[in-house]
Amino acid sequence: MEVDTLFIQLGLAVDRDAAGAGLVSRSPIDGTVLGRVAEATTAEAQAAIEAAQRAFLGWRTVPAPKRGELVRLFGEELRANKDALGRLVTLENGKILQEGLGEVQEMIDICDFAVGLSRQLYGRTIASERPAHRMTETWHPLGVCGVISAFNFPVAVWAWNAALALVCGDSVVWKPSEKTPLCALAANAILARAMKRFGAAPGALSQVLVGGRALGELLAEDRRIAVLSATGSTRMGREVAPRVARRLGRSILELGGNNAAVVASSADLDLIVRAVLFAAVGTAGQRCTTLRRLIVHESIYDRLVGRLDEAYGRVKIGNPLEAGTLVGPLIDERAFEAMGAALSEARAQGGKVRGGVRMTVPGSERGCYVKPALVEMPSQTELVCRETFAPILYVLRYRELDEAIKLHNAVPQGLASSIFTSDLREAEMFLSSVGSDCGIANVNIGPSGAEIGGAFGGEKDTGGGRESGSDAWKAYMRRATNTINYSRELPLAQGIKFDVG
Ligand code: NAD
Repeated sequence: MEVDTLFIQLGLAVDRDAAGAGLVSRSPIDGTVLGRVAEATTAEAQAAIEAAQRAFLGWRTVPAPKRGELVRLFGEELRANKDALGRLVTLENGKILQEGLGEVQEMIDICDFAVGLSRQLYGRTIASERPAHRMTETWHPLGVCGVISAFNFPVAVWAWNAALALVCGDSVVWKPSEKTPLCALAANAILARAMKRFGAAPGALSQVLVGGRALGELLAEDRRIAVLSATGSTRMGREVAPRVARRLGRSILELGGNNAAVVASSADLDLIVRAVLFAAVGTAGQRCTTLRRLIVHESIYDRLVGRLDEAYGRVKIGNPLEAGTLVGPLIDERAFEAMGAALSEARAQGGKVRGGVRMTVPGSERGCYVKPALVEMPSQTELVCRETFAPILYVLRYRELDEAIKLHNAVPQGLASSIFTSDLREAEMFLSSVGSDCGIANVNIGPSGAEIGGAFGGEKDTGGGRESGSDAWKAYMRRATNTINYSRELPLAQGIKFDVG
């Protein structure tokens, strides 16, 4: 499909010329300019937050199941535009088309989840210690939900937040990554179509602010942003969190990962090779949940490394729009430089590096294509403890499970983890309180590719936030505890006597 036709279908009115003011969006596939969009000024951002605050005041009075109807329509619009939006994700972000489509499917899934949730924003009934009293817990809409998102999931992360925030009665202001503004404008335009069909939704219920870090800082500082969901690097989280905390605001932090899998001696090698490949080289290593460390039992180490080496050799690297491609380009030259620097460091530390070289893809010479790297490391050095956002898999050896778990947890991040084993004891140990310290811990599947039904997020330097399924919705609402006295007496809690004569 021609880019112009795609833009028309997605309702994107952007200047295709790179010259002039504004943010230029280039496709990592071949460096082509996709379009240029105006950045929001400070005054425009302030006005957007003000309008979102007003929209919230009306939206919070709409019954939650009715709010769910808007999200149901949004899901319908996404289904109708899945191909087009998935293709735009591939064009602007560079992930393979299957994954671009998968990202839109994830948006559809969270809409379905949120529609059901709109009838299940349950509070509890709590036994009161006082006679003829009743205690309940009520959940109310919170306010404006700010969203800051990263380039690597240019639409799904916003949808996780927006679908929940909307059924919870909040309005949304989104600052997407400066590397993927078109995806954001297209996704919000799809929501706008649903709002038009819904009829009673104010336009300012969901807005996009195109721009860079300064706009993110503005959201962090603004007291009207009741909850700020920020996805990106740990560096970004360290800057955002104190700003929000200073004004005693609420933040949901979804930051960097350094995910590992422990491979025990009883593991099924065929299954592992497939799982490792998707988790380590999929999305060109640019997922927060990408597998970055493989901790392998010494008894199968050589066999597994041999199998992986062979499988890495078969991976098709190329234009992500072409069927059969498994690995597309890195987002930009800086990502390639960071990968190169990490590999040089690994070599200097005694690492044995396979792959990691630049590739030329005919017709896409300006894209940044690279062979995923498999790196055998003598130990878990400081380099291995860092997240390098590229397809590098460090392989380490272990003898006892305790030692493997210690290595596994000895990094600053705590997002996703796996164990591959056929031994129930080892699997349960890994999932127990003395096992993996991550927010996501899996058995016999890789650490990436989470479903929306579970709460998503991680501990330590990953920020501690949870989004998406389970009871993550509670972060987008405020809780009120209500005590109702239906007697003619006034007994006090804790049996306190307060006689006024
Ligand atoms: P990044 O930190 O460079 O940027 C992310 C977003 O934060 C962008 O919108 C950017 O403009 C904004 N930003 C940057 N500095 C800011 C500041 N000081 N104040 C406010 N906003 C600021 O990250 P990236 O390169 O786009 O994405 C890759 C990173 O994101 C990786 O570390 C990856 O692990 C992480 N990530 C985490 C999750 C998760 O759910 N845990 C999901 C996706 C990506």
